[in-house]
Amino acid sequence: MRSHDDDQRHFPAGAPVSVLTTQPLGRPLDYLAPDGGCTLGAFVAVPLGPRQVMGLVWGPGTGEVDRARLRPVSGRLEAEPMRTELREFIARAADYTLTPLPSMLRLATRAPGLGEGEALKRVYVRGEGEPDRMTEARGRVLDVLDEYGGLPFALGELAQLAGCGTSVVKGLVKQGVVAEVETPRDGPFPTLDPGRPGVELSAEQAAASGILRKGVASGQYGTTLLKGVTGSGKTEVYLEAVAECLERGRQALVLLPEIALTGAFLSRVEARFGAKPAEWHSGVTQTERRRVWRMVAANGASLVVGARSALFLPFHDLGLIVVDEEHDGSYKQEDGVLYNARDMAVLRASLNGARVILASATPSLETWANAEAGKYDRLDLAARHGEARMPRLDAIDMRAEAMEASSWISPSLKGAVAARLEKGEQSLLFLNRRGYAPVTVCRACGHQIGCDQCDAKMVEHRFQKRLVCHQCGETKPIPPACPACEVEGKLAPVGPGVERLAEEAAAEWPEARIAVLSSDLFGSARALKSRVADIAEGGADIVIGTQLVAKGHNFPLLTLVGVIDTDLGLQGSDLRAAEHTFQQVRQVAGRAGRVAGREGAALLQTWQPEHPVIRAILSGDEEGFWKAEAEERRAAGMPPYGRMAGIVLSSPDVASVFDLGAAMARQDGPIRKIGAQVFGPAPAPIARIRGRHRVRLLVKAAKGAPLQPAVAEWVAQFRLPANLRLAVDIDPQSF
Ligand code: ADP
Ligand code: ZN
Repeated sequence: MRSHDDDQRHFPAGAPVSVLTTQPLGRPLDYLAPDGGCTLGAFVAVPLGPRQVMGLVWGPGTGEVDRARLRPVSGRLEAEPMRTELREFIARAADYTLTPLPSMLRLATRAPGLGEGEALKRVYVRGEGEPDRMTEARGRVLDVLDEYGGLPFALGELAQLAGCGTSVVKGLVKQGVVAEVETPRDGPFPTLDPGRPGVELSAEQAAASGILRKGVASGQYGTTLLKGVTGSGKTEVYLEAVAECLERGRQALVLLPEIALTGAFLSRVEARFGAKPAEWHSGVTQTERRRVWRMVAANGASLVVGARSALFLPFHDLGLIVVDEEHDGSYKQEDGVLYNARDMAVLRASLNGARVILASATPSLETWANAEAGKYDRLDLAARHGEARMPRLDAIDMRAEAMEASSWISPSLKGAVAARLEKGEQSLLFLNRRGYAPVTVCRACGHQIGCDQCDAKMVEHRFQKRLVCHQCGETKPIPPACPACEVEGKLAPVGPGVERLAEEAAAEWPEARIAVLSSDLFGSARALKSRVADIAEGGADIVIGTQLVAKGHNFPLLTLVGVIDTDLGLQGSDLRAAEHTFQQVRQVAGRAGRVAGREGAALLQTWQPEHPVIRAILSGDEEGFWKAEAEERRAAGMPPYGRMAGIVLSSPDVASVFDLGAAMARQDGPIRKIGAQVFGPAPAPIARIRGRHRVRLLVKAAKGAPLQPAVAEWVAQFRLPANLRLAVDIDPQSF
């Protein structure tokens, strides 16, 4: 590993340096250091063919190209040089995921405006004075400033909007009519005060908090699983570790899976530390994102709350990463660069003497096994805070319920909901299916309407009055006649989605206020956030929702959770089905009864109450469940006891993907050399998307085997036909 003294390493003018760009070249290229030299990690502009591109000084010149033929670096950019720790992280993450370095660098330089050279420094706003002489052009400048209510403009932007030259604006600046100011938006974030008193912790919480604080104080890498039922105070406890980190003057990062809904979390941070943290996710404006990027680097933001991509921010001194709901599937990025943010958090922390806290009520099997093996520490919070109890879990045996064909809420569940309505308490009906009905079938010929571009059924969305493909997003109107047999009036919805469930609930309880929470029903994250807040305050009697509601919200009035189709996730061949169903159902059940004095209940509708996974969910014997699950995986050599890589080939041409797949399966020398096996090719879990056919090969290796180099060598043997894409997925989510 490079030493941290490298941060000071300076290359004198004319010295050969290698520069990594985000251009798809695969590796760094040599240039000569510019006048005044440059430091390692500096952001620079370099010529590439006829263009200028942004790059990063990556190391000394490689010497691959004769020095006489090297071109000089064109200039240094404003941004703070990237620190050794982040460069090391990018290199290691690229190696681990078999991603080309430039693609990895792109994740770390996605701040808008970065690399455009000049950073916005001065902005222009309305000043106090009046012009000595009014001209038409001057009038237009003032109009623009008045119209946009004090928005700060760059000089060029203002002149352009006013349709005049920059000299007109400068003239107004001289007279004090326009004020030239340092941009106020690019300043540090408010200081968080870790010394403010937090809540009074229970004995169990205080013990956990003490251990976590000690870990942060050590300044040494370490990962801890913080396991506790929903409502046990995990958040309160890890905020104590954040406090310790801030007290030591180091920065902290909290990753959340459903980041657009973090309103409540931000308020908790504010309550604890007296100010809000910096936010980093796709809902944050470009200007604000650039501010976060710059302030994180300049140590002007001590706590960042973000989505997985926040892992690539240029922290000045990162001391703690919290991965909340660490089992959540959304931590795995499934397109572009394929990486698991939970695992990359551990990597980044290990390079930087930072701590990691993985928090969950239902950890992933990987994390559970790492704790079992002693690689991670483990802390348990067994009890809900205060008097609140875990809800009672019961199965509703659907075979014994008298139900009509198009009814999805059983009489038993209806009775329970009615009892809550009477008491003024909330019920949640959970069904992980967006839309009205998952399948539209022709009652004349049996044809099911599918997407033209994907291997998927079109899902009816009745609120939108359209059929939607959940793979590619394609929509079309519901046709009047069957596209196959052309008979009219025979198309019928089959099966329920949340919209259909809402219809049944509305018919059953016409007086009840029903809220449907599904990601597609809200125009913006803000709209969704405010609906969630409204529900928390009692603005609905019955909440009907997809997995969106399974995550982290606190609805104090909610005392009943009804799981409509507990068996849903157990179908199909995915080996993780048991783990995922267990996590999801226990999570959603945990939404009930989070407040003392209101007893919670969860009712699980199932056709197979004797299924081992359903029995484990009901009994709450988590350790038993994990042990059994772990045993099965161990016996099969599956992760986390073995290693896997997926290779997905995709092309519009179905023959070429199968041909190459077959060739890869035959020429598997590098894989066999490490004692590993190739399975497939087989149709990928999504066999066709947006017109591209997809085929997958799986590599299964022993735990200690050098999987990545072998896969790299194997893949490099083949030339890809035009239009065929190959993606390597280390540690695939489904297998
Ligand atoms: P988790 O993250 O495990 O779901 P939280 O930290 O969100 O749990 O705690 C659940 C609720 O209980 C929150 O409203 C929280 O503020 C409250 N709570 C937890 N511990 C305490 C405590 N020691 N004192 C007061 N309130 C607490
Ligand atoms: Zn589609």
